[in-house]
Amino acid sequence: PLFVDFKDVWLAYNDELLQQGQYAVEAIDLQVRQGEFIAIVGPSGCGKSTFMKLATGLRMPSHGRILIDGQPVAGPLKISGMAFQAPSLLPWRTTVDNVLLPLEIVEPYRSQFKQKKAEYRERACALLRKVGLAGYEDKFPWQLSGGMQQRASICRALIHEPKMLLLDEPFGALDAFTREELWCILRDLWTEQRFNVILVTHDLRESVFLADTIYVMSKSPGRFVVRREIDLPQP
Ligand code: ADP
Ligand code: ADP
Repeated sequence: PLFVDFKDVWLAYNDELLQQGQYAVEAIDLQVRQGEFIAIVGPSGCGKSTFMKLATGLRMPSHGRILIDGQPVAGPLKISGMAFQAPSLLPWRTTVDNVLLPLEIVEPYRSQFKQKKAEYRERACALLRKVGLAGYEDKFPWQLSGGMQQRASICRALIHEPKMLLLDEPFGALDAFTREELWCILRDLWTEQRFNVILVTHDLRESVFLADTIYVMSKSPGRFVVRREIDLPQP
């Protein structure tokens, strides 16, 4: 079954731009199957961030329609988890408390948070162990390296078991060794849990290593999304 279905989607950021026919993305047709890992590559300004905003319901299309998990998107989606280039952990919270954050906000976890805090904490710690952060649960972000903070951010994006993980250049700021280690961690988590992933990246090697399908987004004239399906050796 399809998980993401964009049908002829256009977005102008405001009415003035709409009247001028200035669209940030145009005529996007894109389908993602359940459990698929896709990467979107393309030059700066071609519309990758805009695509992400549409896929999470942070922006509504000017024309066209978007279905996520069979439902029309009507507002910000709670079934998704996100991580960005900057890890953006809250500095006054420990690693584990940062990871727990979505469980304090998103139902059905939110209403049980007080009673189940110990159980949730153990779950967060288990996820942190998987990404190699055992022993750092009670440290603060400033006590972690950039790569460690990024690992914690990925745990935070996954703790509420989202159906979709959106990653916008998550490894861009890391050194090559840490980056490749995190690729492997992400691929292991994905192989185990089969959430959908949409990864925006400038790194072609990263997209080839991780994704089932790579979309190349181009800037002008049409900003059409071109699908390039590649056969990957199975891990
Ligand atoms: P990136 O290339 O990593 O997407 P940008 O510098 O293009 O980063 O964009 C950073 C933020 O500024 C994004 O949230 C983007 O939507 C917003 N932005 C980009 N271009 C404009 C613009 N012309 N007017 C207003 N906001 C913009
Ligand atoms: P990318 O992520 O690929 O760098 P963006 O989605 O940020 O591209 O931008 C696509 C186009 O939309 C660019 O021309 C950018 O300037 C414009 N844009 C992005 N955000 C805004 C915004 N908030 N307001 C107006 N224009 C924007």
